[in-house]
Amino acid sequence: MNNGTAPRRSFFRSRAFVIAVAVAGFIAVDILFVAWYLNGQRLDDEYRFLDRYGSPDAPPDIPEPVSKLSKATNGDFYNAVVAALEPLLQYTPNNDEPDESFAAFRAKRRNKPTDERKIFYVQPLGELTAYETRILDTSAEFVKKYFGFTVVRLPVKSISAVAGKYRRSGTYGEQFFTGHLLGKVLLPDVPADAVAVMGITDSDLWPGGSFNFVFGEATFTLRVGVSSLRRMVEDSPKPDDHLVLARTIKLFAHEGGHMFSLLHCSLTPCAMEYPNSLAAHDAATVHLCPCCTAKLCWSLNYAPEDRFAGLAEWFGANGFREEAEFCTKAKEALLAAKIPDPGNGK
Ligand SMILES: [Zn+2]
Ligand SMILES: [Zn+2]
Repeated sequence: MNNGTAPRRSFFRSRAFVIAVAVAGFIAVDILFVAWYLNGQRLDDEYRFLDRYGSPDAPPDIPEPVSKLSKATNGDFYNAVVAALEPLLQYTPNNDEPDESFAAFRAKRRNKPTDERKIFYVQPLGELTAYETRILDTSAEFVKKYFGFTVVRLPVKSISAVAGKYRRSGTYGEQFFTGHLLGKVLLPDVPADAVAVMGITDSDLWPGGSFNFVFGEATFTLRVGVSSLRRMVEDSPKPDDHLVLARTIKLFAHEGGHMFSLLHCSLTPCAMEYPNSLAAHDAATVHLCPCCTAKLCWSLNYAPEDRFAGLAEWFGANGFREEAEFCTKAKEALLAAKIPDPGNGK
C-alpha cells in the first residue's frame, strides 16, 4: 500500500554511493598493485640467481671460469696461502676465460657465516635408501672438515607433489628440474641458523636449456643447493663404497663451493672445475686449487692449516690415502709459511 509520500531515494542508489564505491575500488586496486609490485621487487632480488633458472626452457647460465695463479692479487692472506700451496702440485690454466681475482671475489656479495648462521644442513628430498643414507652420513663428516661447520641431517622432505613441467622421465628414471627444487622447495624453508642447505635426492636432475642432466646445482648467495646421488650410485660397476663415497664428497665439495660463492675455476686440478660427465667427475680432484682454497678460507674465516689437518684425518680414516698425504703436506706448508689470520672476510 502506498502511504502517499514520494519514496525517498535510498543512499545505496545515490550518486554519492556510486562515487564512494568507485573511489574505494580504485584505492583497493592501487593497494593490490603496490603489494604485487613490492612483492615482485623482493622476489626479483631474492631470485636474481634463480631467475635464469626460472623455467626448464630457459638456458642455464654456467658461471664463468676463474682463477689463474698468475693473476693472484691483493690480500696478504690470499697471497700467502697461494704461495704456500702452489708448489705442491702442477696447476695449469685450462682455458682463456676471464679470471675472478681475489679483489673481485672480495668485493662481491658472498654467502658467509654469521653469529646466527652456522649450521650446514643436509636435506634429503624424497626417501633415500639405507645405503645412500649411510654414504650421506659419512660424507657429512667430510663436509664438516671441508667447510668447517656443524652438519645436521634434516628429516626427509617429500617431493612427490612436484608436478607438471618440473619433472619428467629420463634415462635414469624420473628427473626433477633443479630451479624448482632450489627456489620453490628448499628456499622457502631455509632454517634461520643455516649457513647452507644442501638438498639430496636419489632422483636424477636437469637444469633446463639443452642440458639433459646435471649432478647438482647451487646458488651463490641464497644458501641453497641440490645434488643427486642417482648417477653416483647407479653407475658404479659393482657395489663399490669407496667409489660412491669419492663421487659423493666431490659433489659436496663442488656444490658446497658454489654455495659459498665460488665460481667455476679454470685452473686444473681444482674441485671447482666443471665436470660435464661422470668420467670427468671421476677424474676430477676433491681438493680446491690454491686460489679457491684461499678464497674459501678467507671468506669463511677458516684457518687453512686447521682445514687441512681435519681433512687429512678424515681422508686417512676413510681409505683415501693419497688425499690424506696431500692434506698433510698442505698443512705443513701452511704452518711453515706462517699464514696470517683469515680475518673473517674483512
Ligand atoms: Zn658447478
Ligand atoms: Zn680453483
